[in-house]
Amino acid sequence: MTKRIFRAIITVAMVVLLACLVLVMGVLYNYFTDVQLEQLRIETTLAGQGVTNEGESYFEGLDVRGYRITWIDQEGDVLYDTSINPGDMENHLEREEVKEAIDVGFGESVRFSNTLMKRSVYSAQLLGDGTVIRVSDEQNSIIQLFFGMIQPIFFVIIAMLAIALFMASKVSKLVVAPLNNLDLDNPLENENVDELAPFMRRIHSQQRQLRIQEIELGKRKEEFEAVTKSMSEGLLLLNRDGDVLSINKAASEILGVSEFVAGKNILVVSRILEFRKIAQAALEGNIIERIIEINERDYQIDANPIYANDEISGAVVLFFDVTEKNQAEQMRREFTANVSHELKTPLHSISGCAELLLNDIVKPEDTKQFTSQIYTEAQRMMTLVNDIIYLSQLDEGALDMKRERINVYDVAKETVSSLSAEAEKASVTLDLLCEPVCDNITDEYSINGIRRLVSSIVYNLTENAIKYNREGGSVSISVNAEYDDKTYEKYVVLTVSDTGIGIPPEHQARIFERFYRVDKSHSKEVGGTGLGLSIVKHAAKAHNAEITLNSVVGGGTSVEVRFPAGK
Ligand code: ADP
Repeated sequence: MTKRIFRAIITVAMVVLLACLVLVMGVLYNYFTDVQLEQLRIETTLAGQGVTNEGESYFEGLDVRGYRITWIDQEGDVLYDTSINPGDMENHLEREEVKEAIDVGFGESVRFSNTLMKRSVYSAQLLGDGTVIRVSDEQNSIIQLFFGMIQPIFFVIIAMLAIALFMASKVSKLVVAPLNNLDLDNPLENENVDELAPFMRRIHSQQRQLRIQEIELGKRKEEFEAVTKSMSEGLLLLNRDGDVLSINKAASEILGVSEFVAGKNILVVSRILEFRKIAQAALEGNIIERIIEINERDYQIDANPIYANDEISGAVVLFFDVTEKNQAEQMRREFTANVSHELKTPLHSISGCAELLLNDIVKPEDTKQFTSQIYTEAQRMMTLVNDIIYLSQLDEGALDMKRERINVYDVAKETVSSLSAEAEKASVTLDLLCEPVCDNITDEYSINGIRRLVSSIVYNLTENAIKYNREGGSVSISVNAEYDDKTYEKYVVLTVSDTGIGIPPEHQARIFERFYRVDKSHSKEVGGTGLGLSIVKHAAKAHNAEITLNSVVGGGTSVEVRFPAGK
């Protein structure tokens, strides 16, 4: 501001100075010329009188003091000249001042000399004898006059600059001070700024519009954030430089960055190289769909460029957690392979026996053995198929099954009694324990559950305890009510313990997997399918129940299922 005012003042001052200079010099120059001519007239009259009285001797010893005096006869020849030898001078009859003096008695003229820098002023007078006396003097040209004045002009310019600077700072302060004091938050309330009134009104109306737009944008942002926040998928919006415009909670957790990285460059913020490559490629206009592993989870990343006016203005990146889906697919593949494998063995056996019988290769006394094998294998297949159907029902959704209040002790009692024949066959004793008194079963043992699943838990655990026991061993099943002082939660705990062969520690973590067996041949021998504990695991999960396994090889196994009571 000060600079602009200073420049304006200087420009005006310079223009004024130049105009004054031209005017003053013009006037001065004319004035000096007039004064000089007047002086010259007097000098000419004096010289004329001198020559009239003394003739040529007048010039002897004459101190001309810068003047040049020329005496010219009637024919124009120079009789005497104070500066040049008359013999070297040309005829002067045609000189303007001489001509005029001859005509009217007195003549004057002003001429530029050869140098152009100087002007000569001439004054001539006709004397009584017809000769003409001429006096001339040199006059400075206007340029010389200017150079003569250059020093004062320089001082004037310096003074002018100083004054302009001072004035500029004063004026700018005067102009800026009220502007600085303007209350732009309330533009219409400013006083003493009449000149700025239209400007203030404009600011006021624009501020109103901005406020409305701000509220509108705020609302949209809130809506957008509310929608994206609750999304389980990660959403990330980038501008064309890769700066974060928006990132939802899920995306920030997946990428391990703060939710408040808006404005920062994602390529700098994120440490996941593979993701950075995807984002970079999307910003370059590529559509990317890729599954990458981040923190031991699989994410499908869909990255798309965003176009505005045919130019890439940013990118949108979506993250889908496909870990479970991938695992489920993997499990399904393994399951199918296992099922085919498990079915193949009894089918081969059945087909082999049937072929032998069909071709009458079997001796009549052995026929029973073969048909019995066919029956056993068919039974095994049926058990297997039943287990598979049961598991796939659980997979499809045990949660949808009908829940009811069930007493775990009652279910255990029913199930255990259905296995008593099997226990007897295996020479294993079965004991159902209950506290405090078995006949006085209270609601403490009840849970909100699915009767069929609870029954299958008791059945499979008890059956395993019988199957993997030793002759003369025992199985005890207990149902207890427990209360946790810390969490104030109630539990119904089912425990199935046996005195059987036990499970080696390295197998304990895996026996709940489908088709996993510690000793495959032993399992088959006792009619196992490898699916019993998987069914237990799924059924327990459907009740939010926790399974704990304790087993010592040769010392027996104890499996505890802890059901949250009343839920
Ligand atoms: P299976 O039909 O083979 O019994 P399960 O899923 O019920 O299949 O059990 C998986 C494996 O765990 C069994 O093959 C067996 O090796 C082992 N197992 C399960 N329960 C017991 C137990 N009470 N004692 C010893 N081993 C057991």
